[in-house]
Amino acid sequence: MIDKQFEKEEFKKSVKENVKFLYRKTLEEATQEQIFQAVSYTVKDVIIDNWLKSQKAYEKQDPKIVYYMSMEFLMGRALGNNLINLGAYGEVKEALEELGLDINCIEDQEPDPALGNGGLGRLAACFLDSLATLNYCAYGCGIRYRYGMFKQEIRDGYQVEAPDNWLKNGYPFELRRPEYAKEVHFGGYVRVEWDPVNNQNKFIHEGYQAVKAVPYDMPITGYNNDVVNTLRIWDAEPIVDFNLDSFDKGDYHNAVEQENLARTIVEVLYPNDNHMAGKELRLKQQYFFVSASLQAAIAKYKKTHDDITKLHEKVVFQMNDTHPTVAVAELMRLLMDQEGLGWDQAWDITTKCCAYTNHTIMSEALEKWPIELFSRLLPRVYQIIEEINRRFILEIQQKYPGNFEKIKKMAIIYDGQVKMAHLAIVAGYSVNGVARLHTEILKNQELKDFYEMMPEKFNNKTNGITQRRFLAHGNPLLADWVTDKIGPDWITDLSQLSKLKVYADDEKALQEFMTIKFKNKERLAKYILEHNGVEVDPHSIFDIQVKRLHEYKRQLLNILHVIYLYNQIKAHPEMDFYPRTFIFGAKASAAYARAKKIIKLINCVADVVNNDASINGKLKVVFIENYRVSNAEIIFAAADVSEQISTASKEASGTGNMKFMLNGAPTLGTMDGANVEIVQEVGEENAFIFGMSSDQIINYENNGGYDPDFIYNTDPEIRQVLMQLINGTFSSDTEMFRDIYNSLLDKRNMPRPDQYFILGDFRSYAEAQKRVEEAYKDEKRWAKMALLNTACSGKFTSDRTIQEYVDDIWHLDKVVVKEN
Ligand SMILES: *Cc1c(COP(=O)(O)O)cnc(C)c1O
Repeated sequence: MIDKQFEKEEFKKSVKENVKFLYRKTLEEATQEQIFQAVSYTVKDVIIDNWLKSQKAYEKQDPKIVYYMSMEFLMGRALGNNLINLGAYGEVKEALEELGLDINCIEDQEPDPALGNGGLGRLAACFLDSLATLNYCAYGCGIRYRYGMFKQEIRDGYQVEAPDNWLKNGYPFELRRPEYAKEVHFGGYVRVEWDPVNNQNKFIHEGYQAVKAVPYDMPITGYNNDVVNTLRIWDAEPIVDFNLDSFDKGDYHNAVEQENLARTIVEVLYPNDNHMAGKELRLKQQYFFVSASLQAAIAKYKKTHDDITKLHEKVVFQMNDTHPTVAVAELMRLLMDQEGLGWDQAWDITTKCCAYTNHTIMSEALEKWPIELFSRLLPRVYQIIEEINRRFILEIQQKYPGNFEKIKKMAIIYDGQVKMAHLAIVAGYSVNGVARLHTEILKNQELKDFYEMMPEKFNNKTNGITQRRFLAHGNPLLADWVTDKIGPDWITDLSQLSKLKVYADDEKALQEFMTIKFKNKERLAKYILEHNGVEVDPHSIFDIQVKRLHEYKRQLLNILHVIYLYNQIKAHPEMDFYPRTFIFGAKASAAYARAKKIIKLINCVADVVNNDASINGKLKVVFIENYRVSNAEIIFAAADVSEQISTASKEASGTGNMKFMLNGAPTLGTMDGANVEIVQEVGEENAFIFGMSSDQIINYENNGGYDPDFIYNTDPEIRQVLMQLINGTFSSDTEMFRDIYNSLLDKRNMPRPDQYFILGDFRSYAEAQKRVEEAYKDEKRWAKMALLNTACSGKFTSDRTIQEYVDDIWHLDKVVVKEN
């Protein structure tokens, strides 16, 4: 299983040589960061051999390729994950120990490549891991942002954003591939010319600005199968090196603009999660990486195939949300203007090559671009979208004669805007939601008209996560225990975990399971002490909510309930109360003022609660700074309770919920997203479910909301909590949390007060929390619940998700790289 290159002595020699070669230092003189680089180069050496071997195997076997197009890849650190997948983690850990080095410290030197916001980007990363592990040929296609997701610092309780200069020291796991550079064009105009030879119009794009797209490849290792796939992220460079002397005045201006465009286009990741900002630069980013990726895919196909009309037999483009859906029009353009096909042939190929994944129903996240902007930036692509729209409207008219309501609701271009989801649905052959409930809502509500017109396109692919990162790497103690109990097959077949169910009443096994949980809680407590300076008791219940900060995810409900508990303990000091630690981690979009205020509120509550000697440390509140993949791994392993409390119908799937479950934390949640399927797998008795159903929520919404005033007026305990937001309890500035208070109660709050039903679900949530406490007090009962959560989490591997994509949408061929 262990590669020859990882024989310890050879490994140690190679690390020492790399330190010498890279830094002209001995191992003793090198910094930890330099040693990380040296170790990574040694690992990359092995990976490159497998990369070449994979390439050869692909060339020989000519499998169909999926191009996973995504604005975001939230990869997390590569070193540890690669070692796990190469089956070399233990070996390398020992080798480093023999050199006097701690592998954790070395891993900690790696910046998290944070080229994503949250769940959507992390999903893309899990998918790449599963594709490689399942022996499928896949490319991730994205953007090499110079600055990834910002680093979050908490100062005086406020979020402060710092730039994430992840490339500062050079990233060892990337390879620049200038030989595959492509040109991407913006602006200009389209000239039409008659082509008498082919008897058709020719469309000539002129007067544009050009940018050179240069790919950087990152290796994606499969687990123990020698497969190495590629994440190809594009950097932007000016077409010609800017040279002051060689330009006349007219060219000078244009050259400066091209240079600026190249510099700005990949500069920064937009830090919005589930929110459309509508910035021109964002559309440029989208077209930039989509055009370059499609050009590269077509060029690769043509190297070994001569019939472009059979492209769909070897290539599929999966569009991760609407962000890359300009792909369908760009593919039409390339097939017509570059490959010389007519509309019908190009359309036939495009509609067999493109598939779309929907990630949200929230209106503020739906991508719509003003015609003015779109047509100015991408004149030829816009022409093509107009024609797609014209033909689609004819289809609507044919199917629903005289029904103009349908056109209004379904057109791709309407009301001065280009609707990207509609474009993707019309031109794609598959539309999938990301959890069963979410897909049902798409079919029956949000996309009902499309579903009625083209039901065959709609399907569900419930999300998943990779157990290689979130168990094997993130929770080594539990991983070893599981392997000890059921063997190692779970690493590539997570359904094996169900074999753990026989231990649900085995006291010794339960004790071992909870001892591991305790050790992981100690590990997190140490992290919190080091990073927050707060001492937390690993004997207390670790109740954790980590995810992006968003009103629909309802961190506010959580912290208001903490205030409620605090009031209870203060009012009844003698009350029986099991000690609790409420742990939060969340980045808010830099421009999302209310979300940032909620972070401030959590920290203000923490200040008061953590420093109130009268409650005897029964309650602690911790906000973990800079939540990201690397600390997420530690956090999931240490959780007792998984908070998944979104307003029902709003969270399309969630994947954090799955990571918690895998690590043995029961879900405290609403019947939303994949929580529904989690409960189905583990049983309602092993989860804590509360709150209004998605049907109830949608029903209220369709009828103008509900009245939070009624709750405020009739529930004195809730009223007390709300008053404390504005009476100086948590901030001497009584205006500090006025906006939060108003968001729940003020009739002028748009679109209505308490849009996310926080007060509506409060009592139900508090009761569920009470059930958590009761269950936790019964040690054996809790241990059984925790173990069963791990044992029933097999469905939520991204390996299962990917196999479903392959079976129903992509139809890929398995490749063999490792010869037995
Ligand atoms: C899994 C993950 C997410 C998604 O969490 P949800 O709870 O599903 O929103 C976001 N950020 C990071 C770092 C993750 O690992």
